[in-house]
Amino acid sequence: MEKENYDCLSSETKLLHEAYSAKDAYNALNMPVYHAVAYDFDNAAQMELAFTGKSPEHVYSRISNPTVQHFESRIKTITNAAEVISFNSGMAAIANTIMAVAYSGGNIVASPHLFGNTYSFFASTLKDFGVEMHFCDLTNPDEVRTCIDKNTCALFLEIITNPQMEVADLRVLSGICKAYGVPLIADTTIVPFTAFRAADFGVDIEIASSTKYISGGATSLGGLVIDYNSFDWQNSKKLNCLINQTKWSAFSAKVRMEIHRNLGACMTPHVAYMQTIGLETLSVRYRQAAKTCKELAQKIEKLPNILSVNYPALPNHPYYAVSQRQFGEYAGAMFTFDLASREAAFGFIDNLKLIRRATNLFDNKTLAIHPASTIFGTFTEETRRSMDISQNTIRISVGLESIDDLYNDIAQAAEKQNF
Ligand SMILES: *Cc1c(COP(=O)(O)O)cnc(C)c1O
Repeated sequence: MEKENYDCLSSETKLLHEAYSAKDAYNALNMPVYHAVAYDFDNAAQMELAFTGKSPEHVYSRISNPTVQHFESRIKTITNAAEVISFNSGMAAIANTIMAVAYSGGNIVASPHLFGNTYSFFASTLKDFGVEMHFCDLTNPDEVRTCIDKNTCALFLEIITNPQMEVADLRVLSGICKAYGVPLIADTTIVPFTAFRAADFGVDIEIASSTKYISGGATSLGGLVIDYNSFDWQNSKKLNCLINQTKWSAFSAKVRMEIHRNLGACMTPHVAYMQTIGLETLSVRYRQAAKTCKELAQKIEKLPNILSVNYPALPNHPYYAVSQRQFGEYAGAMFTFDLASREAAFGFIDNLKLIRRATNLFDNKTLAIHPASTIFGTFTEETRRSMDISQNTIRISVGLESIDDLYNDIAQAAEKQNF
């Protein structure tokens, strides 16, 4: 399709059609899986150009690969980002991003309400390399301002924290970040970019675990770094030297030409193939799962043994207004609820008949987990308390089953025990 015609298509159509892919020798409709490590050249001069980044040929698949590049370019057109870089997991995307912006003696501002492994990466892994954490309440702008200093390398947040379901006001945080010259980095795994436009709310760098919604049925691990090139890297002591040196932002240049290449956590071509297929149904699957999630959360609120339901798109939720502003009608396809005790929570999990006992989010199947004893199970009780992880909480990731079947399973599991 011609570029002009492609540009006027809706984003849902763009999920399915890519304007720039080279013509395949056999006219295959899907991008072929290029399971190749290295690429052949005609002469030394061509090799030099490709290896020094002066021509676009692939040289080695840890650095770039045609199938992976196709996946990235599709996301680039859907998000209107300046650059998209894929990784072999969401954690690799987070680690590579932070290693690109942070330095020994620098610090990251974040809430302690974080995905368990991200918390461990920040509080333990980074600490050993001299990067400090300034944990603060991101819903309190004054506290955020006092946490930022001249060595702050980034403000990092999750758009809906899991499992606390806290929603910080991104426009407020973005205003603070701009005033202090700090990049705003957001993990948007909980609401995909088809439903939430991170750049419109001042996010400079978006990170997503593509393992979740994008993979399309928990087929594979993957991670994305989406750079909107909205931050002025002149403000970064570490990256200001890279400004205007390449076709990329200073950040993308640092990741592409150094961190991603040197750490080697690249997405593999087969995963890129599966996740490109996942991308094609992302918008439809998300809408369906999020709708079921909201209706289910509303319905189970009335069950006698369920003490409280936590989902930001319900009108009685403390973050309802900000959630509506940022995410619209739905706030992801995950909710939590509290039972009377840890024993009641274990009883509930054991009683489930249809809903699977598993971690992960946004599989096509609905999944239940007791976060305190699993994802946060190796943390001390003190750390769990500082992260507001309760022993009474159950987390449900909603899939594509019929709402009646899901409701009936939750109702029977909650009713069976004498809590
Ligand atoms: C799962 C998850 C991650 C980590 O992603 P992986 O692909 O499992 O490495 C990071 N952030 C959030 C919010 C997640 O749910």
